[in-house]
Amino acid sequence: MLTVENKVTTVFVGNIGIGGNHPIRIQSMTNTPTHHIEKTVNQIITIWKAGADFVRITIPNTKDLEATKKIKALLTKQNFNIPLVADIHFSPKLAIRAAAIVDKIRINPGNFAELGNNIPENEQQAFIRKKVSELIAVCNQYETSIRIGVNHGSLPERILQKYGNTAEGMVALTMQYLMIFNDLKFKRVIVSLKSSNPLVMVYANRLLKRKMIATNLNFPLHIGVTEAGDSDDGRIKSALGIGTLLQEKIGSTIRVSLTEPPEKEIPVAKKIICYAKEKTAISSDFKNITYPEIFSKRKVSATSLVDFNKYPQVLIAGKNFRQNKSQYIAIDNKNHSYEKTVVPFSEHITGIPIFTVNTIDKLSDYSGKDKMLLITFNEIKANILKIKNDKLLILIYHLSDLSPVYEVDAFFDFLKKEKINNPVIFHKNYTENDLETLQIKVAMDFGRPFINGYGNGLFITNHGTINNTAIQQIAYDLLQATRMLITKTEYIACPSCGRTLFDLESTTQKIRKKTAHLKGLKIAIMGCIVNGIGEMADADYGYVGGTPGKISLYKKRKLIKKNIPEENAVDELIKLIKDNGDWQDIHS
Ligand code: SF4
Repeated sequence: MLTVENKVTTVFVGNIGIGGNHPIRIQSMTNTPTHHIEKTVNQIITIWKAGADFVRITIPNTKDLEATKKIKALLTKQNFNIPLVADIHFSPKLAIRAAAIVDKIRINPGNFAELGNNIPENEQQAFIRKKVSELIAVCNQYETSIRIGVNHGSLPERILQKYGNTAEGMVALTMQYLMIFNDLKFKRVIVSLKSSNPLVMVYANRLLKRKMIATNLNFPLHIGVTEAGDSDDGRIKSALGIGTLLQEKIGSTIRVSLTEPPEKEIPVAKKIICYAKEKTAISSDFKNITYPEIFSKRKVSATSLVDFNKYPQVLIAGKNFRQNKSQYIAIDNKNHSYEKTVVPFSEHITGIPIFTVNTIDKLSDYSGKDKMLLITFNEIKANILKIKNDKLLILIYHLSDLSPVYEVDAFFDFLKKEKINNPVIFHKNYTENDLETLQIKVAMDFGRPFINGYGNGLFITNHGTINNTAIQQIAYDLLQATRMLITKTEYIACPSCGRTLFDLESTTQKIRKKTAHLKGLKIAIMGCIVNGIGEMADADYGYVGGTPGKISLYKKRKLIKKNIPEENAVDELIKLIKDNGDWQDIHS
């Protein structure tokens, strides 16, 4: 465990300060082709009116570069002083030209100045330095900032060979660029390390933060989970990754990437920031900010019914379960279907009674059988001797209503000190009527402990109008997002941008409709290949825009078929899944 402090320099993007004492900034990106000038201008204004501090557009070629000048002029003419960011891949020349127009340039070190395989490292470094120097010269002239935007999916071969497709590789590449910028005394730098896997993204940013502090390069971090997808998953994955880091005071600007109209990202971003603020504001009792360097799952004792090391549990209860002591939770341990209901113990052979601090003295009468104890941190501290050595006891750790950030860490530190290895299911009671808010709060309350390797299940109760099925689904979605328990198809869908070669939103929905029953299968849906096939490293199948109206299909990293007319591509994807034996009929 390490301790970090939060000390970040200020960088301006147009008139908007990032880092320092500035509030956490929100941004999004247009998904219109940039050269559709009127549409792009309108979308920039819509995103900004929704509450973004600045807006990114993609510039893949000179046509879009020329369009950007006109976009900037049109915004100024309409009195909109909206800082613009240009997203550049592959072309230092375009980056240099765009730096004279926009307020910030995003470059991707994975493809900015790579000479190719088998080039001596000193030659490669000299080339990067040359290209960065040329860009910096223009940025200095126009006071343009630069984001070093490293993506898990597009690490260059030389990094992959040395580090693999890992958080360490992302950080090593970033540090190479940071050292060059520092050497050239360029200070208007923002850094991002993104991945579609929230765990990779969190561990990479934590590692980078430590390295930056150690080298005194405290540039602001832009954080986000890329290709988070749409709907519930997009919100939960974003709140999990971004929310975890913001609670640790890592991150000065955020982007929530949803496969939805970009302005819809802004309210989600605001809710994540707001809840992170609430939680960190009450965390002063836990002075040292600590987190693990590498993921390691806490090992727990197996009960007689469930091996929690293998099967995290989602528990469901009626609204008044705490008051009604006659209720018990049934665990279906035969097929691990995770369909649990609250039933009286006598009605279900595998029912497990729940004890509370009021009935804790009766625990010893119930020896030799699995049982649960619903308990708070303070209660467990006061009653530790009554639960020690009871291997069949499952702890339900009831979090306080406000749940300060480091309460859970302190709880597990305490268990470790007391040598208690019992499974722990997290419980918290909410009072929400808005599903999106509940998704964000649950992901931020429990996502961080799961990412840190703590916890064996979730038990969410809510005094509000959200139905129990939706609440249960949040628990499953979070367990899937943290890779603890896979219960459905996983979609890695890019948010779309001006490079997108098909309608991401409707295609994602179409693919989801046909494949949602393929539990455990990972399908990537990418508007183009710019972020590289590495982004799909985790996926079993990839559906990727090749050229306008044409789709390429991948099996793992291998290109299987290209130039498929878009209208046939979803059927071809399903055929590919079937040909590889990964298809199941819906009711099989
Ligand atoms: S994958 Fe391509 S289309 Fe999708 S957001 Fe990234 S650059 Fe844009």
